[in-house]
Amino acid sequence: MKILVINCGSSSLKYQVIDSETEAVLAKGLCERIGIDGRLTYQPAGGEKKLTDIPMPTHTQAVQSVIDALTDENTGIVKSLADIDAVGHRLVHGGEKFKESALVDDAMIAAMEDVNPLAPLHNPANLIGVEACRKLMKDTPMVGVFDTAFHQTMPEKAYLYGIPYKYYEKYGIRKYGFHGTSHSFVSKRLAELIGKPYDSSKLIVAHLGNGASICAVENGKSVDTSMGLSPLEGLIMGTRSGDIDPSAVEYLADKEGLDMKGVMNVLNKQSGVYGLSGDVSSDFRDLWKGVEEGNELCRKALEVFSYRVTKYIGGYVAAMNGVDAIAFTAGLGENDSGIREMIMENFGYLGIELDNEANRIRGEEQCISTPSSKAAVWVVPTNEELAIARETVRILGK
Ligand code: ADP
Repeated sequence: MKILVINCGSSSLKYQVIDSETEAVLAKGLCERIGIDGRLTYQPAGGEKKLTDIPMPTHTQAVQSVIDALTDENTGIVKSLADIDAVGHRLVHGGEKFKESALVDDAMIAAMEDVNPLAPLHNPANLIGVEACRKLMKDTPMVGVFDTAFHQTMPEKAYLYGIPYKYYEKYGIRKYGFHGTSHSFVSKRLAELIGKPYDSSKLIVAHLGNGASICAVENGKSVDTSMGLSPLEGLIMGTRSGDIDPSAVEYLADKEGLDMKGVMNVLNKQSGVYGLSGDVSSDFRDLWKGVEEGNELCRKALEVFSYRVTKYIGGYVAAMNGVDAIAFTAGLGENDSGIREMIMENFGYLGIELDNEANRIRGEEQCISTPSSKAAVWVVPTNEELAIARETVRILGK
């Protein structure tokens, strides 16, 4: 089957076409500046990347431009739209309604609209992409794959916050967790790599990209994760603060004369390693450069970031009463050996030891712990698009 995988945001739309039999990417690209002017990037497998300015006043026009590129006589990868067998949509928040991926139909969209208040920035944008595809691809089956679904197996003790229970009942305020598609994909692969059955293993996945989260996967199920009601909780990220004392919100609002929206903007967009480094960058490559140049704030940002990751990993070892293997994934986790080293420095007491030579690896699947390490540590590249394509095939086959 040829699966079109769509990840739609408020002004951008990423896409890939994946052949589900060979799992090869047939074409990929991006629509940017939707609602502003519009730019399409399109790259067929083995072909050149092409950028074209195309008016995209709405998401429907953006999807139309993707369809036109995919069916183009010269550079397209299919003859007609009918050759696309299904669409898999990445959806951010499924609340408690979606414990797994779901076939897109009217009832599913109505159920998702109920969840929208939990993710006002992400879900409505995702749904616009779904609606645009439904309008233009009326006969093509579609599946929604939720970032939260994998974490729906968390026990109550992990997902409840220490606030009045009635707010959980009334408003669904609890930990949901995100990056589920990636945590599921990487943890399954990690179990294979260490030769343990997925359903009797204790694994920790550190998804470290611009957004970052950790997940404890016990016997094939997510039992805890660092992101919460929203992707703001947990680790320090590119520009997000992660965990913070809620009293600091009130104090900062008072001191800076900010309203709630203003403080949330600081915590989401001006914090993390970007804010800690004194606005140098949210990109770790720039922070390392800063360290080389003697920038003390860049060094602090790396230290605070990795200390938080260390604490979460240690906490999840305790939560599962042990760990068989740890995986690093996503842009930073796959590529930054220095950060992996800083994070894993303090696990000697558990007998977990990195192999500094092997740890030099970038973006490739590799074991980076010593042969005598009590738990294996691996770099496992994530592939969320492939995971969405696999889920789409699975749900349609049901
Ligand atoms: P997201 O999908 O959340 O936007 P990614 O998983 O693409 O993020 O990760 C992006 C981050 O990964 C960048 O901000 C950068 O800090 C880090 N990164 C990517 N490549 C490298 C590299 N070669 N060395 C160090 N860090 C890298």
